[in-house]
Amino acid sequence: MSNQCKGCRASVRVSEESIKKLLEDILRDGSLTLASEDDYIARLSHCRDCPNLDYGTTCRFCGCLVPIRARISEKHCPDPGEAKW
Ligand code: SF4
Repeated sequence: MSNQCKGCRASVRVSEESIKKLLEDILRDGSLTLASEDDYIARLSHCRDCPNLDYGTTCRFCGCLVPIRARISEKHCPDPGEAKW
């Protein structure tokens, strides 16, 4: 028997193309900026090792897709215990 939520199987899994489009929309008005590639890689590395990452993409604290949140320079890790980046 699968341990996946029946209501979430498809909708929580986000394609690279969807992530790219969402990021373009978020950055369009110019109020936020892209993080450097090095910062992005380091941030995602923390997320990959984090017990609060769901589905390989979603932060349990903010509900954000981390491949998007980590790309935005002005964002930070929302862990209330200790921000990891
Ligand atoms: S708590 Fe921080 S390190 Fe963990 S998944 Fe969320 S953003 Fe990433």
